[in-house]
Amino acid sequence: MRRKLIAGNWKMNGSRESGAVIDAVRDAHPEPAVEILVCPPATLIAPLAGRGIAMGGQDCHPEPEGAHTGDVAAEMLREAGAVAVILGHSERRAEHGEGDALVEAKARAAWRTGLLAIVCVGESEADRDAGRTLEVVGRQVAGSIPDGATPDNLVVAYEPVWAIGTGRTPSLEEIGAVHAFIREKLSERFGAGTSDGIRLLYGGSVKPANAADIFGVPDVDGALVGGASLKAEDFNGIIAAAG
Ligand code: PEP
Repeated sequence: MRRKLIAGNWKMNGSRESGAVIDAVRDAHPEPAVEILVCPPATLIAPLAGRGIAMGGQDCHPEPEGAHTGDVAAEMLREAGAVAVILGHSERRAEHGEGDALVEAKARAAWRTGLLAIVCVGESEADRDAGRTLEVVGRQVAGSIPDGATPDNLVVAYEPVWAIGTGRTPSLEEIGAVHAFIREKLSERFGAGTSDGIRLLYGGSVKPANAADIFGVPDVDGALVGGASLKAEDFNGIIAAAG
């Protein structure tokens, strides 16, 4: 039985005052039926950790230390209080030119220090229009996930690029088809027993109003939530829909 995971991606938003959001999420779910994770900017992990909501990073460097100005090592995220890290988000793939091999190296770095790797995959609108969704997602799943994946160290987030921050979502059937495809690819590579335990999140314009329908789709084990995770009321509504 896969426990649902609701993960918030704050992107480059928030401040120390955002602790109020964390507190409001914690207070609304004293005994959550689902796992809750918030991924704030790296500078906020330490100040916001220890308030009862698990913290994650949004990226890490493959190396544990060295001359990499502006980067953060997985070990540093861990020391700050993170238990997970988002990797290969489409904004990093687009804005920083990250490819599958780099994402795979980052996932190995996450595992090196015991962080859960949340590996993001998803097609662009042009890919979808050209009928290439499964081809693109299949290539990203194959290239971005290292050998050795288990339900304890990997979560895969399916995030169609065109659905992120746009208010648009694929149909429930389309979400289900891609999630089933990802599960099949994981099964071929890691075996059915392992694949059955790995959680697959949907991400892209998840809101309180559409969350319950999305969580009802087979093989959807939670959500990666951007904009709606910045407001406690909205994030709480999504968490409640998953429970
Ligand atoms: C995201 O950035 O991972 C995301 C899903 O954003 P939004 O929920 O705002 O579409």
